[in-house]
Amino acid sequence: MRDSFGRTIDYLRVSVTDNCNLRCVYCMPATGVERRTHDEILRFEELERILRVAVDLGIRRIRVTGGEPLVRRGIVDFLARVAHLPGTEEVTLTTNGVLLDELAEPIRAAGVRRLNVSLDTLRPERFRELTRGGSLGRVLRGVAAAEAAGFDPLKLNVVLLRENLEEVEHFAALTRERALHVRFIELMPLGEGSCYAGGHFVPATEARRRLEERFELEPALVQGSGPAVSWRVRGGRGTVGFIAALTEHFCDRCNRLRLSADGRLSPCLASDQAVSLRDALRGGATDRELVRLLHLAVRAKPQEHRMESGQGKGRRMSQLGG
Ligand code: SAM
Ligand code: SF4
Repeated sequence: MRDSFGRTIDYLRVSVTDNCNLRCVYCMPATGVERRTHDEILRFEELERILRVAVDLGIRRIRVTGGEPLVRRGIVDFLARVAHLPGTEEVTLTTNGVLLDELAEPIRAAGVRRLNVSLDTLRPERFRELTRGGSLGRVLRGVAAAEAAGFDPLKLNVVLLRENLEEVEHFAALTRERALHVRFIELMPLGEGSCYAGGHFVPATEARRRLEERFELEPALVQGSGPAVSWRVRGGRGTVGFIAALTEHFCDRCNRLRLSADGRLSPCLASDQAVSLRDALRGGATDRELVRLLHLAVRAKPQEHRMESGQGKGRRMSQLGG
C-alpha cells in the first residue's frame, strides 16, 4: 500500500488491550481510567481476520502492544497464530516486562523473535515513582528471562525525562557487556504526556552529547530499528539508539498504521481521524469492505504530525499503543 506522499505502508501496530498493570506518570492517570468492557474490545478472532486482510494488502511487520499486552488472557496463543500467518515477515511485541519472567520462554516458542521492553530507570525507588508502584526487580528478572530465551534483538525502550537523564550512561554501560539494544525516546506530548512534557522533556541530542562525553560511540546497524539512529559503545555487544520523534521527526519515512484495542484504525499517532473496523466487522463487512477501509486509512495519512503544536493532546498512549 502506498499513501498520498509515496510512502510504502507495510507496518501495523496492534493494541490488544487498554488495560495495564502499571500507571506510568507520562502515559496514564493515577486513577479514573475507565476499563473497556469485554464487548468493546476486538476479540482475537476479529483481530486475526483484520490481520489476514492487512497482510494480503502488503503489511509485513506487526507489532503487538497495549496497554500492557501480556495482561490479556490468551495472548501467547494469539501471538503464535499471528507469527504463523502466511505473508508476515515479523511479529514483535512491546511490553513493560512485569510478566516476562514467566512468559518470555513461551512467547519465544510461539515464534516471536524480537522483543521491546520498556524500562526508564535502573533505580528501584525511581521506578516505583515513575510507574506508580511497579517493582524494578520483577522487570529486571523479566529482561534476564528474555535474554535467556534468545530474543534477537532484545531492545530496551527508555523514555528520556529530566529525572532519568543522569542514568543514560548506566543504560549505555549495560550494552557493553550484554546484547541489549537501548533506545532513548523523546517524550511525546500526548495524553498524560502533554501535561507531563512541560518540565520533563529532554531532547535526544542532549542525551547523545552526554553519552559522547563519556564513551566512544561508533555508528551501528540494528535490525528492524525503524526511526532509531544507533551507535555502539566501542567494543560493546549491544547498541544505543535515539528516537527523536519531536526534535527531528521522521514522518517522511513513516510506514505504519495503528489499530486500537477497540478496533479503530488510525493513520497517525497524533491524528484524530480513525475508521472503526470493529463496527464494520460487526455490521457484517466482507473482506472487500475491510480492504476499502484499510486503503481509506492509508489515504488519510498526513504528511507529518503536529504534536509540537498540541495535536493529539487528547489521546492517551495506552490507547494508541505507543
Ligand atoms: N505497556 C507496554 C509498554 O510499556 O511497553 C506497551 C504499551 S506502551 C504505551 C508503549 C511505549 O509507549 C512504551 O515504551 C512507553 O514508554 C511509551 N510511551 C507511553 N507514553 C509516552 C509518551 N507520552 N511519550 C513517549 N513514549 C511514551
Ligand atoms: Fe502501562 Fe506501558 Fe503506559 Fe506504562 S507505558 S502505563 S506500562 S501502557
